[in-house]
Amino acid sequence: MDLYEYQARDMFESYGVSVMRAATATTAAEARQVAEDLGWPAVIKAQVKTGGRGKAGGVKLARDADEAQAVAEQILGMDIKGHTVHRVMVTEGADIAEEYYFSLLVDRSDRQYLAMCSRSGGVDIETLAKDSPELLAKVPVDPLVGVDAAKAAEITAAAGFDEADRPSLEAMFVKLWEVFRDEDATLVEVNPLIKAGDGSIIALDGKVTLDENAAFRHPEHAAYRDEANVDPLESQAREQGLNYVKLDGNVGVIGNGAGLMMSTLDVVAYAGADLPGSPSPANFLDIGGGASAEVMANGLSLILSDPAVKSIFVNVYGGITSCEQVAKGIVQAMDLLGERANKPIVLRLDGNNAAGGRHVLKRARERLAGFVLVAETMDGGARMAAQLAAGVASIDELRNAREGENR
Ligand code: GDP
Ligand code: MN
Repeated sequence: MDLYEYQARDMFESYGVSVMRAATATTAAEARQVAEDLGWPAVIKAQVKTGGRGKAGGVKLARDADEAQAVAEQILGMDIKGHTVHRVMVTEGADIAEEYYFSLLVDRSDRQYLAMCSRSGGVDIETLAKDSPELLAKVPVDPLVGVDAAKAAEITAAAGFDEADRPSLEAMFVKLWEVFRDEDATLVEVNPLIKAGDGSIIALDGKVTLDENAAFRHPEHAAYRDEANVDPLESQAREQGLNYVKLDGNVGVIGNGAGLMMSTLDVVAYAGADLPGSPSPANFLDIGGGASAEVMANGLSLILSDPAVKSIFVNVYGGITSCEQVAKGIVQAMDLLGERANKPIVLRLDGNNAAGGRHVLKRARERLAGFVLVAETMDGGARMAAQLAAGVASIDELRNAREGENR
């Protein structure tokens, strides 16, 4: 989960990292008031979870109250890379002598942490890494040791800072490490980290990504959840304890187990590739091992309420839960959903007692006939779901074709 800059700033401050005084506002009048309280010049900054706000016109200086209000007016409501600005942060203007870069992140390939640091900050760091990699110091950080005084000294030396600036930079790196470690972050990035005219070191921008797998030990992180900007289906799924991710396509997909779910996404995308409109998965939804009727009904109901979904592929592999139980769950889910089950569903059941599962579905055939089609294989099911989404076949045509083959 990414934090907004103002949340990162407040977090930094609570760890003793030097930041500028600041407060947020959601209207131009409020921004004017905040700026007057802070003094001049003030900087008005768009609060959106994307970088490059400066370049996009989302970071502006104001020298007096009228200008603060006018600038806030411009920035609020602005669209930055698809993110609408609903809030600005107003800060004291910093007197920048130099702009640096510092970040801590998880280096998965090396199974450790990595500190990156450069004297050439304030710029797009991906560009710097590509065009002038020699200007970006990369220092591995042992997770069990972290950034202590010695590691911080190694980082300032690698980045080539002047002796005079090193002590205050090193103190800040240690504090940013404490943020990274104690908040269970996967990224802490400060760009720019500045040296002000008076020589002090200040974190002028902040990007923090928190590891959601550690949420259980940070109940306070729940306050960062940004419900207004979360996909409504994703927040509904979270409330129901469903493992759901919205994707761009139009074939709703349900599976049990993350591995099966991932490969189901692949076969659906593959099956749709050559069809008109290239149907592809509309979501990831892992209903887990149990796959009870209630969970199945919640999952189906969630996917049915996604207007982008044209067809649904349910791909269940019976493991500990037998297919017979899963099939009963699906039939009950259909009863629970009633009229809401109004999109074609392709069902593939395999694994533990698959025959029993098919038998349950056969008995319920009358009730399910209009919209449920049973597929023999995963590839076949994916193909049918993709054809239904592309509108090149109806459920009756597919059923008739299949019964023709079996005869
Ligand atoms: P980003 O573009 O989204 O990374 O937003 P930043 O917060 O990094 O701001 C972009 C740039 O605006 C910085 O690199 C600075 O050059 C400039 N900037 C931000 N705050 C101040 C400030 O208080 N004073 C001055 N002079 N420039 C600032
Ligand atoms: Mn920045």
